Amino acid sequence: MARLSIQDREAYLFLRGRNLLKDVEAHRIDMYKGAVCVICSCPDHFDDAYANIAMTCLEHRPSPRICLLTQRGGALAIPGDSPLNLKRRGENLLQDIFAAHEEDVITTVALYAHAPCTSVNKHGLGLVEVIDLLVRAKISVKTEAFGHNAEIKVACFVHIDRGQEEGPRTYFVSADEWRLVYRRDIDQVRLSDTMESKRW
Ligand SMILES: [Zn+2]
Repeated sequence: MARLSIQDREAYLFLRGRNLLKDVEAHRIDMYKGAVCVICSCPDHFDDAYANIAMTCLEHRPSPRICLLTQRGGALAIPGDSPLNLKRRGENLLQDIFAAHEEDVITTVALYAHAPCTSVNKHGLGLVEVIDLLVRAKISVKTEAFGHNAEIKVACFVHIDRGQEEGPRTYFVSADEWRLVYRRDIDQVRLSDTMESKRW
C-alpha cells in the first residue's frame, strides 16, 4: 500500500493550515438529485472515499444516487494536457458526465483526486500539482457545460490517507479560493523553498 511522501505530508499540513483543504460540509453540497462522481479506481482508498460520497448524498436524499465514473487518476484525467489523460480518457469522461446529466437528470458533479495515488506517483506529481490539476478539471467541466447549455454544479474533493494513526479523510477544495491563493501563497512558498534549495 502506497504511503504519503514526506513532501506531500508537508504540503498537506501547509494546505490544511491555510484552510485550502476544508472539512466537507455535506449539507452545502447539493446532491438532491444525486451526483456524478469521477474518482480514481485505486483499490486502497476507494471504500473510504465512496462511503464519504454516499454519506454526503444521504444528507439530501433517502438513498444515495451516484453515477460512478472511475478511471486511473480519477478527475485528474480530464484536463486536455494532463499526463493522466491517455487515449482520450478525459474526453470520454466529459462525454459520460454530460450523458448522466442529460439522461439521468443529475445536476451535481463531484470530482475526486486522492493521495497517495499510485497512478499519480508514476508521473511524479506532488500534492499541490494534483490539486491544481483537479481545479483545472473543474474548469474543463464547466467550460464543456457552457457548450452543452447545461446548468451543473461542480465540487472538488481530495481524499488523503494520512497514515495508520490519523487514517484517511476527505477534504473539500474551493476552486475559486485555490485559484486566488495558489499564485499568491503557494508560488511564494515555492520561491522561498527554491531559494533554500528545498523541495516540498
Ligand atoms: Zn489512485
